[in-house]
Amino acid sequence: MSARSLTRLGDLAAAGLIPADAVPALAPVAQRYAVAVTPDMARLIESPEDPIGRQFLPRPEEAVTLPEESADPIGDHPHSPVKGLVHRYPDRVLIKITHSCPVYCRFCFRREMVGPAGHGNLNAGELDTIGAYLAAQPAVREVIVTGGDPLMLSARRIRALGERLAPLAHIRLVRWHSRVPVVAPGRITADLASALAFSGKANYVAVHANHAREFTPEAAAALARLHAAGIVLLGQSVLLKGVNASEEALLDLFSTMLAHRIVPLYLHHPDLAPGTGHFRMSLAEGQALYGRLRGRISGPGLPAYVLDLPGGHGKVEIGPDAVIGREGGIALVRDSHGQVHRYPEG
Ligand code: SF4
Repeated sequence: MSARSLTRLGDLAAAGLIPADAVPALAPVAQRYAVAVTPDMARLIESPEDPIGRQFLPRPEEAVTLPEESADPIGDHPHSPVKGLVHRYPDRVLIKITHSCPVYCRFCFRREMVGPAGHGNLNAGELDTIGAYLAAQPAVREVIVTGGDPLMLSARRIRALGERLAPLAHIRLVRWHSRVPVVAPGRITADLASALAFSGKANYVAVHANHAREFTPEAAAALARLHAAGIVLLGQSVLLKGVNASEEALLDLFSTMLAHRIVPLYLHHPDLAPGTGHFRMSLAEGQALYGRLRGRISGPGLPAYVLDLPGGHGKVEIGPDAVIGREGGIALVRDSHGQVHRYPEG
């Protein structure tokens, strides 16, 4: 197996991950959406149909964009006051610090913004502008660093962000959202882990993983290095048909997270990103599956099942009260302000 990431269809075929005769049909998909499979994940793939292959190998279904799907499915753009920053809730902001990822997940909600053709990393001047914006926002308590995948940055660049945030005492929490600890665990060196431990802040890494098999011995060692650096580990997962949409797969995933000292935080319903319809269950199916997990795992092991409402209306827990009715294929979902939104279930 190759020691470098596989980023072209020809590489995937040469590695035996996709059939060579599938390459012509997949070319338009790979042209539109970036492809990358790390050696760590390539080693786990037994077939394009297994839970790891489905997450990272391009498929012909991705060429189908449904009418309800959008390039900005959770509505980041209207809430972006300065480049690279999303300010949707009063107490927290997102910083999208890079457009690169170690892998390109086929279900990604930012799939039209990430990849080698994206805008790269925020530069020093852009980080200064973000620092100045945050200095004038005393209500902001938490910075969530995302991308792309922010742990693609070097320890030096991570420390450069820490220097901007250090003087801002009102910012008490920093949370990094990343797939790196499981898909490219070798990147989590002791130096990188210590760079993430910003002085004077509570530092979290929300580890994105969707299947228990992603927790290899190398991933376990990377997670231990983060833990040793004083980082609190949270888990985030996406409910994906063909990957983890069964009681057994989800219970195995969440209990494996707990065993690695990760507290599962969110189980996301997949967003309405283009070409991802084959991954989505209906909300009703997702709610029924989630309901069957209750009582089968201890309290800290069951994450909140959440939906990011299209149009920038934020996240809602899809508990029993969230869907207040249905009209045809449309679910009526109540947000945290009591407003009702129409969500196409598919
Ligand atoms: S690592 Fe995250 S941002 Fe990058 S493609 Fe996967 S889900 Fe999207």
